[in-house]
Amino acid sequence: MATYGIDLGTTYSCIAYVNDTNRAVVVKNAVGEDSTPSVVFFETDDNVVIGREAKNSARIYPNLVVSLIKRRMGEDDVELEFHGAVHTPVTISALILRELCQSAEQNTHEDVRDVVITVPAYFGVRAREATRAAGEIAGLNVLNVIPEPVAAALHYEAISTDADRTILVYDLGGGTFDTTAIRIEGQDISVVCTDGDHKLGGADWDERIADLLLKQFVEEHPGTEAAVSEDFLQELATAAEDMKRALSSLETRRYNARFADEVSRIELTRTVFENATADLLERTFTITGRTIDEARQRGVTSFDDVLLVGGSTRMPAVAEGLRSRFGFTPKLHDPDLAVAKGAALFALIESVKIALPAGAEAGPGGAGPSPEDMETAAAQLGVDTDSLRGLIGKKVTAVVPRAFGVKILTTAGDAEADDDGFLIDHLLHANAVLPAAPPTQTYGTVEDGQTGISVEIWEQAGARESRRVLDNEKIGNGTITDLPPLPKGSPVAISFAMDEMGTLRVHAVETTTGKDLDIELAIGGLSPEDMGQARTAVGKYTVGA
Ligand code: ADP
Ligand code: MG
Repeated sequence: MATYGIDLGTTYSCIAYVNDTNRAVVVKNAVGEDSTPSVVFFETDDNVVIGREAKNSARIYPNLVVSLIKRRMGEDDVELEFHGAVHTPVTISALILRELCQSAEQNTHEDVRDVVITVPAYFGVRAREATRAAGEIAGLNVLNVIPEPVAAALHYEAISTDADRTILVYDLGGGTFDTTAIRIEGQDISVVCTDGDHKLGGADWDERIADLLLKQFVEEHPGTEAAVSEDFLQELATAAEDMKRALSSLETRRYNARFADEVSRIELTRTVFENATADLLERTFTITGRTIDEARQRGVTSFDDVLLVGGSTRMPAVAEGLRSRFGFTPKLHDPDLAVAKGAALFALIESVKIALPAGAEAGPGGAGPSPEDMETAAAQLGVDTDSLRGLIGKKVTAVVPRAFGVKILTTAGDAEADDDGFLIDHLLHANAVLPAAPPTQTYGTVEDGQTGISVEIWEQAGARESRRVLDNEKIGNGTITDLPPLPKGSPVAISFAMDEMGTLRVHAVETTTGKDLDIELAIGGLSPEDMGQARTAVGKYTVGA
């Protein structure tokens, strides 16, 4: 049975697998497209429509259609109601995954079960685990989640023959942006550093065009009600995306806007479009510059290649800007499919590890798998033994996506502390190589006679690490209880460890009594009951394109 790679995108999603000639190929969806709009239309209380038709339905049923849900992955307390049923970003993502896999099953006549799902490199632990949970709720066996730029690099590596190199991945999709420095050394692919903005993407470019269209329409028809018509605005939004795509290859594009009996023939040139969106592009370059600086501090002095990923990199201004600003000659291939194809390769790498008995992947000097093991595994995975050999020992090294720490009370006078004297002390910093286990930190209890110690775990919320409580987000907590009354300043040792999968484990111990506490942050805060409920909620729908 093949394993699949899924790019669960903010605006478009895509599924791929490695075929029997060892190439990663995209499976088309039910309506014959390579990628499917990540849009869900709750048509009735037991039927949902996903993809192009759902996107088109947004105009008529704005309150029953959900898009850009990935921007809210991992957020607490997001509840949306349709036909009386409550949904969350996780259950809505699960429905998208179900449709992708169901379509793939129809097209390949094979079950889709084992998958790797991609996530933006800067996703925090909660968003990552929420993505994994969405896969499980959709009935999939999620082998792993992998950062999108790493997937793109894997795809690039598979089609490139060069030796060791460092690459910069610039990914501008529909709703998210990130840049990531990646090093490829022999069998190792590792993230050097990553940065991004998950509220910036092609949709923002669309919005600017929609604004331009509306402005001109209103100027030509003063007193029109167009600006308050939900219907008209939706129509402009759809037209805006079409115009934007057209302007990637054409210098000018026209649109006939019609509202009530009023008509405007609006012409938009690429130059006007680029000027109206220059600040958005500029924001991506600021982040790119930051990534380059960060990479330099980590010993990367130049990039051998710059990869453009994400549909929005088809806008000519992207490559032009990277060229004029940074002197890069970016490469554009498969920008909207590279992530899914790379994920398919990674899914195969992961399943090789599972299919071959432990120890079989022994490196140089090791015994390696026996010919029989190789043949069995190759048959099981649907590839030939040669390509299997190439995959053994491939390693993807990920980094810590953001800084993680604990909330502590400071002694007076710390400028970063809040009014009550609290700040976040980070033990784990962004871009540390995974698995990561930084040195244990020891803190003191704050009051005499304390019989409990509360430990709060916080994650960096903004683009930069900051000790201010406001710049961080609480992701978990626990309490060491039943302590004898302790003198103030009793030592509490706290250790953080994050594994390759990004799961964070925190251990806190009051060292005089040895009383301790373990906190594991996984499955996006979903308890087994929550998972069960979500499965039922999702399972009651028939999904279709
Ligand atoms: P994501 O992974 O964020 O869902 P994709 O990588 O699939 O997104 O890119 C989708 C975005 O790319 C959309 O905003 C879409 O309008 C844009 N896009 C696709 N093709 C083009 C094009 N030819 N020119 C400009 N933008 C494009
Ligand atoms: Mg993407």
